[in-house]
Amino acid sequence: MAEQLIISVSGMRGIVGENLSAPVAAEYGCAFGTFLKNKHSSKKEKLTVCIARDSRPSGQMLGSAVAAGLCAVGIDVVDLGITTTPGAGVMLSELGCAGGVVITASHNPIGYNGIKLLLDNGVAPPPSQAEQIRRCFFDKDFAPADSVNCGKLTFNDQTDAAHIAKVLAIVDREAIAARNFKVVLDSVNGAGGRVTKKLLAELGCEVIAINDEPTGMFAHKPEPTAENLTGLCEVVKTKSAVIGFAQDPDADRLAIVDENGTYIGEEYTLALAAKYIFSKRSGSAAANLSTSRMIDDIAEQAGGQVVRTAVGEANVAAAMFEHDCIIGGEGNGGVIDLRVGPVRNSLVGIALVLQLMTETGKTVSQLVGEIGGYHMTKEKFTAEQNHAQQILDLAKKAFAEAKLDTTDGCRFDFDDGWLHLRTSNTEPVMRAIVEAKDPRAAREYLNAVSKIRMKVLG
Ligand code: MG
Repeated sequence: MAEQLIISVSGMRGIVGENLSAPVAAEYGCAFGTFLKNKHSSKKEKLTVCIARDSRPSGQMLGSAVAAGLCAVGIDVVDLGITTTPGAGVMLSELGCAGGVVITASHNPIGYNGIKLLLDNGVAPPPSQAEQIRRCFFDKDFAPADSVNCGKLTFNDQTDAAHIAKVLAIVDREAIAARNFKVVLDSVNGAGGRVTKKLLAELGCEVIAINDEPTGMFAHKPEPTAENLTGLCEVVKTKSAVIGFAQDPDADRLAIVDENGTYIGEEYTLALAAKYIFSKRSGSAAANLSTSRMIDDIAEQAGGQVVRTAVGEANVAAAMFEHDCIIGGEGNGGVIDLRVGPVRNSLVGIALVLQLMTETGKTVSQLVGEIGGYHMTKEKFTAEQNHAQQILDLAKKAFAEAKLDTTDGCRFDFDDGWLHLRTSNTEPVMRAIVEAKDPRAAREYLNAVSKIRMKVLG
């Protein structure tokens, strides 16, 4: 059976040639444009939306279709070409756009593509507004413009320059450049290669780039996890580089390999970035409920604290705005610094980690050792909504002694670790994420979840 087209707060995702086609993309463009016109109805002048795409071969086709849909309802479109998701966020604010669209399926395989929507603040629409766009799409309740008032399409190639300038402004470029770091960059043939090579050159690094051509023909599975980055680890080791960086196809996520060629795990990306930020500034951090406790330890040592949010970039960004956070992100290697923009940004992660190495004079493995670590295990299982609710209810009874946060499923905090149980927004799936200092404790919490699961699901 063909997979369903998924429409969520962050946009639309599907399989090209099956359920994601040019007509679907054009109507989604019409729906987003109509929504923006209603939202900004008091504005006299025409609205502008910028469109970026990752390197997938289907990106141009879908981007053109979305652009046509937007123009059809009277929105001007600026095509940014192949550009990272965080780069699109930067341009959205530089150009004063009413919204942004990124054609990307992020870390999903090449068959997929997606249409990610951003509002004028650079963040995905909150659930109520996402629902208005969805409704408009399904009802085809569009507001077409006549032949004089339809939108126009222009092109802009300034994203890299604007993005790099914003990132350089948050670090000490001369100090980093003085170290002449030798780094390896794996951009998985996504959108990140071009701009990241330029950034690293500005930072005085000797760059060995692999899979840097933005062909969309991913040289390995695109999610930046340990099993997919053996090639990067090997190059770091054989070339005696001090660090390896891996991006996903739209370059919002970053994973790191240390100087020994060891993949350190995506959770450390945010931890290392936060370690640098908290060494310079005081304030709060924001992270989703599934993110490692390492960030709490780092914040606490600096006299700060961590605001926890529901999973999803938009939730973290909203908390960062509300609490004026100095750093934020998600454990999947997504680092957010509001000075650059409210979008997870691998270039920000790279710059902050190189700055941390510069200031401390320490290697990645030494910095990782200082932060210490936890044992994190993730499980995923099928559970329909009613079963998921029963599992949550039983877990609340079983872990009655824990501190409970119900912002997004249930997160139970114990002295020696935590457990987060949540349902997916897009599929009948439940996730259990557990983290503890002692691997045996982590296993015990997961065993307790398994027992509850057996009871409910049989
Ligand atoms: Mg991504």
